[in-house]
Amino acid sequence: MLDLIIRNGKVFNPEKGFLDVEVGIKDGKIAEIGKNLSGAAEVLDASGNIVMPGVIDPHIHLGIFNDFAVECEHETRAALAGGVTTCGLFMGGDQSYLGQVGGLIDVIEAKSSVDMFMHLAIFTPDQMDEMEACYQEFGITSFKFYMAGVKGVFPNVSDGFILDGFKKIAKFGDNAIACVHCEDQSIIDRAFDEVSAQNPDGTLGDWAKTGPDIAEEEAIMRACYLAEKAGNRLYIVHISSKAGADRLAKIKKNEGAAVFGETTSAYLTVNKDGAFGLKGKMLPPLRDASDNDGLWEAVKNDTIDSLGTDNVSMTLEVKQEEKGMLGAMPGYPILQTHFPAMINEGYHKRGVDIEKIITKATVNPAKIFGLYPRKGIIAEGSDADIVILDLNLSRTVESKELFSYSDFSLFEGQDIKGWPRTVLKGGKVAYSDGKIVVEPGSGSFLKRKL
Ligand SMILES: [Zn+2]
Repeated sequence: MLDLIIRNGKVFNPEKGFLDVEVGIKDGKIAEIGKNLSGAAEVLDASGNIVMPGVIDPHIHLGIFNDFAVECEHETRAALAGGVTTCGLFMGGDQSYLGQVGGLIDVIEAKSSVDMFMHLAIFTPDQMDEMEACYQEFGITSFKFYMAGVKGVFPNVSDGFILDGFKKIAKFGDNAIACVHCEDQSIIDRAFDEVSAQNPDGTLGDWAKTGPDIAEEEAIMRACYLAEKAGNRLYIVHISSKAGADRLAKIKKNEGAAVFGETTSAYLTVNKDGAFGLKGKMLPPLRDASDNDGLWEAVKNDTIDSLGTDNVSMTLEVKQEEKGMLGAMPGYPILQTHFPAMINEGYHKRGVDIEKIITKATVNPAKIFGLYPRKGIIAEGSDADIVILDLNLSRTVESKELFSYSDFSLFEGQDIKGWPRTVLKGGKVAYSDGKIVVEPGSGSFLKRKL
């Protein structure tokens, strides 16, 4: 006997498109897909809606400006309400990982409402020595390198250091992957010094000039070159510029690196001219409307493979917008609006294929990060993480109604069309019509296959 059947929806399949089938769920897994399923305790009617895999946001940060456990609890509820059922968590800092990953996993298991996998940023030789043990012990198969750091938070690392890391990842094999923040440190340092000397009280538009797109484009070339030489798989995080995306398109076409591109929902849907002003301060910076256009083209032509958030939660008190362009903190909370904002901007406003957006938000990150077919697809045997998406459900964003503990949103006051009505996580209804109906801790840490 099935636990639950979803009826009357258009069920997304990455190869076949939308199918008029029913989905039967048993013990947290998808047990049956077909017609006229029967014998379930519970039936969900998805009439007029899309039935799709839970969104995988491969790129979030937690615990940067607040307690890790607090953010793990609150921000994953925001994620769920936006259709995100799995998150890839980037951990950083200069401390040993072996001593802390076990504790982080305990917090995830106790507090998270979504499933979570982890990427470790490698800054020190000691951390590089720990990669193998973290891979073996915790099933962590993705490691991040910063070609440009974040002033006062963490440093950049050299090409030589990155090459050593890439070689280790190549040895781990095709399940492992390097994630790289691609900006050239020296180009952005010079731009930052110039802009901050001339215009220390600048706007978000001036902030954009501190991270010129040439720095991103140049670093993408270098990272791809190093990966081609080392023979590892490469994932370029948060591509923010048309120039960067265009360069990656040429590399994918003409060169030998096994490379995947990510952009974020913010780089696709907002820019430096947004009404939010310095609340939108970020690294790399939000840029021009022409960059939004270029990145949507890159989604359409498959230069961009994967869509994430780079979520960094904080309150306005921590953001310190009033301290101006230089003093304000970088980052914004964006988990709950991530997927709806891309449906609104991509599908409704720009006519981008809904299949493309769903594929890059679900099955692609699952494949890239070794979670497929457990995650990212509605198929027999997969985890029953499912979103019932109403393309025509419109909501005006008000940060106080979002589940994040943060008190601002880049979409404040905006109408966004295309929201989840119901989200199932592990076969159970976790979010339904505006309410989270699971307790913290229903999510798990995902150890990946080696
Ligand atoms: Zn990030």
